[in-house]
Amino acid sequence: MLPCNTCRNATRWGYAAIAEARSVLEHELETIRTGGTWKGERIITSKQGPHINVDGSRGDILNFCANNYLGLSSHPQVVEAGIEALKKYGAGLSSVRFICGTQDIHKDLEQKLAKFHEREECILYASCFDANAGLFEVLLGPDDAVLSDELNHASIIDGIRLCRAKRFRYKHMDLNDLETQLKQSQSSRMRLVVTDGVFSMDGDVAPLKGICDLAEQYGALVFIDECHATGFMGPRGRGTDELLGVMDRVHIVNSTLGKALGGAAGGYTVGPKPLIDLLRQRSRPYLFSNSLPPPVVGCATRAVELLLASNEIAQSVGAKTMRFRNKMTEAGFTISGSAHPICPVMLGDARLASLMADDMLKLGVYVIGFSYPVVPKGKARIRVQISAAHTDQDIDRAVDAFIQTGRKHGVVS
Ligand code: PLP
Repeated sequence: MLPCNTCRNATRWGYAAIAEARSVLEHELETIRTGGTWKGERIITSKQGPHINVDGSRGDILNFCANNYLGLSSHPQVVEAGIEALKKYGAGLSSVRFICGTQDIHKDLEQKLAKFHEREECILYASCFDANAGLFEVLLGPDDAVLSDELNHASIIDGIRLCRAKRFRYKHMDLNDLETQLKQSQSSRMRLVVTDGVFSMDGDVAPLKGICDLAEQYGALVFIDECHATGFMGPRGRGTDELLGVMDRVHIVNSTLGKALGGAAGGYTVGPKPLIDLLRQRSRPYLFSNSLPPPVVGCATRAVELLLASNEIAQSVGAKTMRFRNKMTEAGFTISGSAHPICPVMLGDARLASLMADDMLKLGVYVIGFSYPVVPKGKARIRVQISAAHTDQDIDRAVDAFIQTGRKHGVVS
């Protein structure tokens, strides 16, 4: 049967709409390409670890750009726990938590995480992005205020956008500016100071002691995002709050299972019981998204158990970090941050960062250049991330490759 005129017209309009959309999207993509900020994706053909295989590169590649701080992503016990959970509990729940998506392993992991962070309760999310998206809207209303470090992670910024509290942004790690904003927001009912514990682009640690002093002075709560700290910062790896001696003064912690804690996926909030209870009732990414899959829960639980059982794992990345930082500094490179395994090799120019990263890969070392808009203009860098799974030889090989590449590009002599 031939299509009627109405159908023919609808199809024509449909074609016109998609053609228009394609042209708008192609234009946008071209702007990204010409702006030099295109983010390509290299394809890994092995499991995550210090040594990987990368599509298009021959042989073993040294990996220095994963958040696999403790080397647990492919730890045999972590992998085994995932397999066991998969066999016993299946691939997934086909449900959100409150319908029929809560298993005993979800409750067990929540209890272990609360214990690990020494907080009353814990709630799991599919990611820390979701935990950040789901927190502020539930906790804060129009009578409240949120005071946020200007360099906080994108997911915090998005989460804050979703809430109706008054917004105050303070200069990066600037306690004077935070105090000014605390004074300005004094009429609010509740105030929440929000900061990354460690900032992922520079590896710099928030001045939590000063933040807690000010928060107490002005009657505010403190929230930290510990994605780049949980598992390895502080003597027992509890995080920046432990490192800086303020575990009992920080009220709410969000973190991820997708970095040091096994690296699979998932995020969580730990804090006071009434807050966690309310999040279970109202937090949209929790209420309207699937439960964490059992294998993911199994892997994360084993990672947390390993950390609860011994402080050695938490300590395993420190010496390696300092080996890399010291050798690179001796060679003439500028490394930002202090003792954190995020070691940004500062280069300034975006093109230089990208060319050097490509040359490093040719020497068998996988690192990534970061440039605007991920970092400020003129502050391009190669962000190196050290893992406890790197050997001293791996680190020395990376330093040698940096020296060779740096000489080629005139960065070091
Ligand atoms: N917060 C910070 C500081 C992060 O670095 C990240 C991940 O890059 C997230 C939140 C999001 O974590 P997830 O990967 O669990 O969504």
